[in-house]
Amino acid sequence: MAKVGFIGLGAMGSGMAAVLAQKGHLVTAYDLDTNAVSRAEAAGCKRATSIGEAVSQADTVISMLPNTKIVSDVYFGSDSILKHAAQEAFLIDCSTIGVSDARQFNEIAKSNGFDFVDAPVSGGVTAAANGALTFMVGANETQFVKVQPILLEMGKAVIHAGNAGSGQAAKLCNNMLLASSMIATCESLILAEKLGLDTKLFFEIASKSSGQNWSLTSYAPIKELVPSAPVNRDFENGFAGSLMLKDVCLALEEAHKNGFEPIMAQISKELYSKYIVNAGNTKDFSGIINMLRQ
Ligand code: NAD
Repeated sequence: MAKVGFIGLGAMGSGMAAVLAQKGHLVTAYDLDTNAVSRAEAAGCKRATSIGEAVSQADTVISMLPNTKIVSDVYFGSDSILKHAAQEAFLIDCSTIGVSDARQFNEIAKSNGFDFVDAPVSGGVTAAANGALTFMVGANETQFVKVQPILLEMGKAVIHAGNAGSGQAAKLCNNMLLASSMIATCESLILAEKLGLDTKLFFEIASKSSGQNWSLTSYAPIKELVPSAPVNRDFENGFAGSLMLKDVCLALEEAHKNGFEPIMAQISKELYSKYIVNAGNTKDFSGIINMLRQ
């Protein structure tokens, strides 16, 4: 049984922490939002009222936070994980952040005697709640062997992407692809409607044809095609459009640093920027279908 300090209990972290608790690990959970902590408590976690309380007894610290700035504050700020965790504790950041930031955090942690690995995830809230995520891990070989078992408790696949930062590199490339594939999926569903096709039938055809992709088969933004898709809950509690925009911007930054101009990612950035102006920061990214219809 692992003693896990879990920080960040939002759309993803709530499911991940609950899965660990269900599997018999002692999970002490903290979030700035006290309602999120209450939900984690109801799901079998121990309530923490501060970062210190969450991590001081932990052998493993897992964070699932919105962005680089918050991850930096939570690990290295004035009241932070580094101030309160035992040096033997393994620090695993599952948030999506920049590649160079993850490398820098690994270095800072190392210079303070800690192991810090980047282990961002793919799969969405349903996979998080079902322990079926894919983890992409940036770590050295020894660190990977250490963190693999606890990540496997929350995932269907735990893949060693390479050294520090490589998990984030894989995640950004993946989400750059997802950003475009969702827009393309929405456009083909809209055209199918306009051509008078039965949407369910088109979904069945494309799911078995060369247009098949995750945005369609696991996340189609038309009601009742995929029961777990955010469209069936008014695009709430999914992957916020603002988080998708953050990921596309991070991917573009990395591309520019490497002298590459990805055209589809640039278009995605423009479209998701426009989408969140009207939809707000919390609606799922697949809600962009409503904007594309207009
Ligand atoms: P979310 O906004 O639903 O949850 C983030 C949580 O962090 C919130 O509960 C918030 O209160 C908490 N938080 C913020 N600042 C904090 C602080 N200083 N201390 C403690 N808690 C704090 O976001 P999410 O959808 O769960 O995403 C989390 C991360 O996972 C992001 O980096 C996102 O890009 C990535 N991700 C999300 C999905 C998805 O489908 N939602 C999928 C893969 C990866």
